[in-house]
Amino acid sequence: MQPFNLAVLDSLVDQIAVLDHEGVIIAHNQSWINFSNENGGNLRKNGVGANYVAVCPEDIKNGIMQVLAGKSDHFTYEYPCHSTHEYRWFLLRVTPIKINERSGAVVSHVNITDRKLLEIGVERKERLYRHIAENSTDFISLHTRDGAYTYVSPNYSLLGYSSSELVGKSPHDFIHEDDIQKINDLNDDPYTIGETKTSTYRFRCKNGRYIWMESKYKFVLSNDDVAGEMICVSRDVTKNKQKLIALEEEKQSLRKTVYTDSLTGVSNRRYFKRQFKKMYQQSLQDCTPFSLVIIDIDYFKQYNDTYGHQKGDECLSKVANALARGVRENDTVCRIGGEEFCMIFPHTNKEKAISLAERICRKVEGLQIPHHNSAVSKFVTVSAGVSSTSGSFEYANEKELFRLADQALYSAKKDGRNCVRF
Ligand code: GH3
Ligand code: MG
Ligand code: MG
Repeated sequence: MQPFNLAVLDSLVDQIAVLDHEGVIIAHNQSWINFSNENGGNLRKNGVGANYVAVCPEDIKNGIMQVLAGKSDHFTYEYPCHSTHEYRWFLLRVTPIKINERSGAVVSHVNITDRKLLEIGVERKERLYRHIAENSTDFISLHTRDGAYTYVSPNYSLLGYSSSELVGKSPHDFIHEDDIQKINDLNDDPYTIGETKTSTYRFRCKNGRYIWMESKYKFVLSNDDVAGEMICVSRDVTKNKQKLIALEEEKQSLRKTVYTDSLTGVSNRRYFKRQFKKMYQQSLQDCTPFSLVIIDIDYFKQYNDTYGHQKGDECLSKVANALARGVRENDTVCRIGGEEFCMIFPHTNKEKAISLAERICRKVEGLQIPHHNSAVSKFVTVSAGVSSTSGSFEYANEKELFRLADQALYSAKKDGRNCVRF
């Protein structure tokens, strides 16, 4: 072989040999020799002059002979060739060559270990993920960027659906209408790549029953799909959710019991103290006016003495009811003691509060609950003490505001009852 040709062959890392028409090696490169030496080969068997085909296994021999006979323009064969200390794979490639008008072949052994290991890694991962998806108790799904299902794990059958009933559809088709907005709000920026989001919603099973699902999902980009996709792992959290709902209901009910006056149904003193402080602070924070009205039933001792305690209770309920119905949504009515009520009016100045209190006094008298032993009217009446703050720190604290309303109530009583004082 020409020195130039040999130099080119020697420069290649792949092991290369040239065969004549009978399969005898007529040339090889340095890598061929090195490989043979490093792996215990015998150049008498695989060096120049040796018949390469004769030592090949049958299927390789046939492939090479096909090329030598001009019946095939190439032959390839991948094979493992592990050494004692490393895994290796090679690709045998045989292509035809003309030598002195006769057919011959170029044989090369290319090390494909890197590619093979990568393929094995991908296969292993694929097997692992498939195993997880197919055996997980979680529901696993893949979605397009727009949300449509592209894959659902087999356990979706537990919800009554086959894969074909979900693939191509939007999850919105199965989510409870009251929860769709919640999910849309969460997905204001749905395409944040890599960030895991969680949402809980009701999902409709095939039989029409809804279960609570908690989904963790993430948008990912893959090399072959620039649009990206969404990976979603969902879990049936119905039992937990039902427990939470029951707990929340219980909490609400307890809260109601703790803060409600059992006789009249309006809020109680405990609630008043909490709410009064809160509203007062809010008024200072917002620099908005805020008013307090204390209402006390006139001659209620005489009412009890005249009609009995039972009637007295009924009267308290009627008055509480009238007070509650006479206020706006954000106002608060509480029974803070025997026949004493407090009303909290946020965003309400002195004039407005006085006028509201007047109206309430008239309203109670307008109930026309007979009270023959009242010195001020033939019906049950109330007196009211009003105090207000402009929301500009004129008082030390809310207790001061309460004291002023109480003083005003005392004046109303002193001035004859069934009236309002500030
Ligand atoms: P005034 O016009 O000055 O307010 O006189 P009053 O009689 O209304 O005031 P007083 O404080 O002397 O009496 C309040 C009465 O309210 C005494 C008590 O028997 C009665 N009372 C307090 N709590 C209840 C209750 O829960 N039910 C009933 N029926 N009466 C109650
Ligand atoms: Mg009283
Ligand atoms: Mg009274």
